[in-house]
Amino acid sequence: MLSINLQHSDKFIVIFASCFITKGHGRSLIIDSQRGKFDLIPNDMVDFIQNSKLYTIRTLFKIYGTDNKEIVESYLSFILENEYGFLANDKIRKKFPEIEVKWQHPSKITNSIIDVKVFETTQEIYLQTISQLDTLQCEALQIRSYISLSESQLTYLAEAIKNTCIEHLEIYTKYNDQLTLKKLNKLLLNNQKISNIIIHSASKEDEYEVIKNLSTIYYTAQTLTDETCCGLVEKQYFNAIKDHYMEANFHNSCLNRKLSIDGNGEIKNCPSMSKSYGNAKDTNLVSVLTNEDFTAIWNIKKDFVLTCQDCEFRYVCTDCRAYVETPDNLYAKPLKCGYDPYTNEWSDWKENPLKQKAISEYQLTNVKRTLF
Ligand code: SF4
Repeated sequence: MLSINLQHSDKFIVIFASCFITKGHGRSLIIDSQRGKFDLIPNDMVDFIQNSKLYTIRTLFKIYGTDNKEIVESYLSFILENEYGFLANDKIRKKFPEIEVKWQHPSKITNSIIDVKVFETTQEIYLQTISQLDTLQCEALQIRSYISLSESQLTYLAEAIKNTCIEHLEIYTKYNDQLTLKKLNKLLLNNQKISNIIIHSASKEDEYEVIKNLSTIYYTAQTLTDETCCGLVEKQYFNAIKDHYMEANFHNSCLNRKLSIDGNGEIKNCPSMSKSYGNAKDTNLVSVLTNEDFTAIWNIKKDFVLTCQDCEFRYVCTDCRAYVETPDNLYAKPLKCGYDPYTNEWSDWKENPLKQKAISEYQLTNVKRTLF
């Protein structure tokens, strides 16, 4: 609780411009998009914050009355102690206008996934795809290999992105004891565009930072067997950084400006989706972007998705259009989300009786706890 008495203050409480509030059905989220953090707050506090734009603290105490004095104090101390806002007089606060919520990006494609099932037969496709992603100014590439890649195969992929626009490469590969930590370290030191290497299906859980704040090797016992592994919605995947928050206000938070190549070389929005827009060995990626079906899905933002539209996490959450609760409804809630914004409770999505029909339709009955 506040150590200073603000009851008679003629100052205003000013929420930092980088902080945003998302009102949900039962509670709300205050997001600091600069620090990438967020906290849950009661919906009443959202109204209080709206009022605080109009009135000094002294007036706020008067409006809410003596019965609510402790609540007002607790709201003020929460904002100040968690650094979501600061105190300022009328003149100073006018120097801190709100940030406009908007999202723009010059790249035609910002992020891409390439799945690897058999390296040798599809290796030419990787080079072709990476070269075209460069033309589209793609910045981030994720390579997800369901098989073990050798040191030379990993080097081949890292070399392919060297002189391209791709700035961040994340690689998932299956554990193999030939791929020693020493070899992985060397790979990361020689290829600084690789941000992470994740070794899945390992017998241990470990983490090694190779270049401070730049690249890390993770070992995980979790498996990555095929594209059905994708689409999991969990708190650990929430992202409150400004660019993601802004993008999610206008676009799909998983698929916007994404282009994927599945393990068979098929061009898709996401490797888990069934619709193919041609095979990468003989289809130009630029031509795929002229297909309205391919780009329409980019605009299915959470405000259009059933249930998600009432959820306080909707602009920090990821999305999934590959596995939804009602498979023939593109606007249905992601199947692999166990959160209920009407009760504010998390539960195991696989156990939900209402999801069993969709689970069986997608053949996810035996799906285990996996990486995504
Ligand atoms: S209900 Fe929707 S927005 Fe909320 S956590 Fe689940 S998937 Fe995300």
